[in-house]
Parts: sequence; C-alpha cells; structure tokens
Amino acid sequence: MSLRFTYDCLPSRVVFRTGALDELATETARLGSRVFIISTPGQRRLAERCAELIGASTVAVYDKAQMHTPADSVRSACAYFGQLQADCCVAIGGGSTIGLAKAIAFEHRIPILAVPTTYSGSEATAIWGLTENGIKKVMRDAHVQPRTILYDPLLTLGLPPGISGPSGVNAIAHCVEALYSEAANPLVSMMAEEGIRALGKSLPQVVTDPRNVEARSDSLYGAWLGGVVLGAVGMALHHKLCHVLGGAFNLPHAETHTIVLPHAVAYNTAAAPEAVRRVARALGVDDAAQGLFELNLAIGAWVALKDIGMPADGIDRAVQLATANPYYNPAPIRPEAIRQLLTNAWEGRRP
Ligand code: NAD
Repeated sequence: MSLRFTYDCLPSRVVFRTGALDELATETARLGSRVFIISTPGQRRLAERCAELIGASTVAVYDKAQMHTPADSVRSACAYFGQLQADCCVAIGGGSTIGLAKAIAFEHRIPILAVPTTYSGSEATAIWGLTENGIKKVMRDAHVQPRTILYDPLLTLGLPPGISGPSGVNAIAHCVEALYSEAANPLVSMMAEEGIRALGKSLPQVVTDPRNVEARSDSLYGAWLGGVVLGAVGMALHHKLCHVLGGAFNLPHAETHTIVLPHAVAYNTAAAPEAVRRVARALGVDDAAQGLFELNLAIGAWVALKDIGMPADGIDRAVQLATANPYYNPAPIRPEAIRQLLTNAWEGRRP
C-alpha cells in the first residue's frame, strides 16, 4: 500500500545534556522577565534552586501542583498567577506539575519552560488533563506546548525506583499506542520504536542502579520520544482506560499505565499485528504483551489494580465509562471484552 499521512510537527526547543539546568536562566530569559515557578510540595527545594538560578526575575515559587490536575487547584493557581502579572512559567517536576503549568498557560496565554524530572513525556505535548467530579477530561491547545524543554538526567538521579519504573512504562505506553494510532506515520513510528528500545533497556538498570547517569540519560531520551509521539498522534484504548481509572478512582497515573499496558496490548495484538511486532522487536522479545508484563516484574512494579486502590466494584463503572463514547482503537471496543481485560488487570493475571 502506498504511504498516506498528515503530520503536524510540533515546535519545541530541546536542550538535552547532563547539567542542562545550568542553562535555566539564559533559557528562561528568552521567554519572559516575570517568572512563575511551579512544583509539587515534595519538589519545593528544587523549585527554590531554580528561583536562585533565575534570580530577580522570579516572582513566585508555587508548590501546589497535584496529580490529575483537579479543577479547583487550577482556579487557585490561575488567580494567583494573574495577581502577580507573571509573563512565563517554569514547570519543574513530573506530569502533574507540567499539567498545572499548561492549565495556567491556557488561561493566561503565556509560554512554558519545562524541566521534566520524571518520564511522563508531558513536556513534549500540547495536552493536559483536568479533573472535576471524578471525570478526567483531556484538553488540547497548541498554545500550551512548552516552548523550551531542559532535559537534565542529573535531576532524575533521586527519582525513587518505585516511581522511575512506572513512569518509564508510562512513556512506553505512549510509544506503543503511537505505533497503532489511526494517525501513525513512518517518522512517528520510528521514534516510537526507538523510545521503547531505549526505555526497555534502561529501566531495569535505572531501578537497580538509580544513580547510573547513562541509564538515566537513556530513559529520559526514551521519555522525550514518548512525549513527542504522544503529542503528534492520537492514542487509543490503553490511554482511554487509564484516564477513566485515574479520574474515577484517583489511582496513581503511572502505576495504572504500567498495570494496564500488557493487557491493552494483548487486546490489540490480533488487530494491529505489525505495530505489535515492532513493540516486541524493540523489547527484544517474541511476544509484546508477555514482554511488557515481564518488564513490569523486572522493575518491581505493581501488576494488579486491586493493589493500587481500585475497588472491585469499580470494574462495572470503569466499563461503562470506557465504552460510553466511541473512539478509535485497532480492535473493536466490546463491553464484555473490556470487562475481561479490566478483571485480568485488577487481579494481576498474566495477559
Ligand atoms: P507526578 O508528576 O505526579 O510525580 C509523582 C511524584 O514524584 C510527585 O510527588 C513528585 O513530586 C515526585 N517527583 C517527580 N520527580 C521527582 C524526582 N526527580 N525525584 C523525586 N521525586 C520526584 O507523576 P507523573 O507520572 O510524572 O505525572 C502524572 C500526571 O501527568 C498525570 O496527571 C497525567 O495525567 C499527566 N500526564 C500528562 C501527559 C500529557 O501529555 N499531558 C503525559 C503523561 C502524563
């Protein structure tokens, strides 16, 4: 079949090197002169270090970013940002911090400089989640695409193994679904396969030797690729299920992705054989779903939704939410098959 695709290549300036944080002041000055720095409470000290590096242009260190970007937290942050008349954001942290920066950028039309310290990939997309009344909406607006990304593997050396592994699998999930996306194209597929390869090889090293800078660098590289492909093409069943589960039961984001991914891949294997073959090739295994399950065991991740806080009676609600509206997926969305998938993931069965 001859090639046919449409590809919006998203613009971002990427500075990737060990020690890249040294360039924070210079890079921030390209974007604004009244800088609002965002982090989670746990990363406040790192945010304060950014304030020192940026100096007098810092107008606030705001450490109230929360998982799943609750709508109330967005309203408070936007109001405070407006009072200070800041003109750009530095978001230092994981997807939660970068998500809050995007919500502010959407409201106030200001540029973001992202300094990712996990492997979520959010820094490379124009997408963010917004959670209200147990429903997590996916928002997309080109304006929130971070203008500059500073990737510094040194900032990830302290990311605990228990967060590093699932966060990396979250990035693998972006790559996997990009390979069978409705909008897949040859360049995105190359990046996706390379992302899975880089993360599949480095994550087991990262969890056993967290201060291995080379492995950390490879994982961050894979995370960047994951973010780029997530931002470039639409996702499918796996991301839908994880959004439903995160919004409805406040489950931890990366761990949910880690548990669900082998099952979502098993669900799509017959319908997307070439994409799934590329996943297996990138992992160096024969069967992609089994290989992903094995990777989860190798990094010591949770493999059962029941162990991360999902109630057993939540399966019905999740099936209902995940099948309420039509969306693209290689294999047809059948409620009974989704129920089986979620039951397997809840129990922690091998796919
Ligand atoms: P997170 O941002 O919630 O971070 C998890 C925890 O790790 C936090 O407590 C944080 O303070 C801590 N942490 C982060 N970096 C650290 C480091 N280097 N050392 C020590 N502790 C560190 O987790 P996440 O998985 O990165 O992000 C999840 C959120 O991101 C979800 O809300 C999800 O929807 C969103 N997300 C968005 C996109 C997108 O494209 N928009 C992509 C992936 C995830």
